[in-house]
Amino acid sequence: MKQGKLLYAGKAKSVYRTDKKETLIVEFRDDITAFDGGKKDTLKNKGSYNAGVSAFFFDYLEKHGVKTHFLQVLDERRMAVRTLSMIPLEVIVRNIAAGSIVRNYPFKEGTKLDPPVIVIDFKDDSRHDPMLNDDLIVALNLATPAELKKIKTIALEINRLLSALLAKQGIMLVDFKIEFGRQGKTIRLGDEISMDSMRLWDRKTKESLDKDVYRFNKGDVMATYNRVSRRIMTGTAGPAAIKKKPAAARKKGTVSSGKAAKPKTKKR
Ligand code: C5P
Repeated sequence: MKQGKLLYAGKAKSVYRTDKKETLIVEFRDDITAFDGGKKDTLKNKGSYNAGVSAFFFDYLEKHGVKTHFLQVLDERRMAVRTLSMIPLEVIVRNIAAGSIVRNYPFKEGTKLDPPVIVIDFKDDSRHDPMLNDDLIVALNLATPAELKKIKTIALEINRLLSALLAKQGIMLVDFKIEFGRQGKTIRLGDEISMDSMRLWDRKTKESLDKDVYRFNKGDVMATYNRVSRRIMTGTAGPAAIKKKPAAARKKGTVSSGKAAKPKTKKR
C-alpha cells in the first residue's frame, strides 16, 4: 500500500490517502496539546505510545464484536484504517466524575457514576466543542435518531469491554472520548483510543496515568505514557511486575523495554 497525499492534519494525528480509495493511513505524531490548543508541545516517542495502545484497543474491540476503522499496524506510528465519513461528535463516556463534569456541575471528583454518563459534544474547534443533546444532534442533521441510539449502545459496550480489560491491570477507566464514522450504512469506531483521549487512574494510588499528567504538570508525561502503555499491553499489574517478567512478555510479542509495542494484527 502506497501512502498518498495528506488529507487532514489534526492536533496530534495526520491522515493520508493511499492508492486504495477505501483505505487511509493515520500517523500518530509526537505533538501533544491541551486546553483547546492553548498548551502545546512535541514529545519524543509520544506518537508511538498512542499508536501502539490505539491499535491494541482496536484489535481487542474488533475481537469482541465492535466494528472499528482499524485494519493493520504499518509501523510504530502508522496504521491503515478504513475510510469513514466521520460524524462530528465527541462521545464521552464517564464512569467516575472528573475533569469538565466536576468543573461544570456539582459533582465531587471521584464520585462513581453508575450507570455511566454519556456526554456528547459537537466537534467544532471554532465553537469550542459545545455540548449537544439528542434533539440538537437530530436538528443539526449530525445523526438520525436510530444512528444516535446505535452510537450510544456501541459506546457503552466499548466502556464495558475496556473497563474490564483495564481492571485486570489495576487501572480504573474514569472516562474516555471516542468518535464514530459511517462506512455505507455501518457505524464504525474511528479516530483513536489512547492516553490522550482517556482518563485512567491507578486503582490503588489514584495516580493519573494519562494526559492529565501533561495538562496539570503532574510529572513526567513521557515516563507515564511509557509505563502505562506497557502495563496495558503486556497484561501485567504494574511496573514491578513488568521487571519480573520480561522474557514472558517478549514471547507474547509484546514490549519489554523502550518503545511502545506493536500488537499482533491481521489484515481484515
Ligand atoms: O475535559 P473532559 O473532562 O470533558 O474530558 C473527558 C474525557 O474526554 C477525557 O478523557 C479527555 O481526555 C477526553 N477528551 C478528548 N478530546 C476532547 C475532549 C475530551 O479526548 N476534545
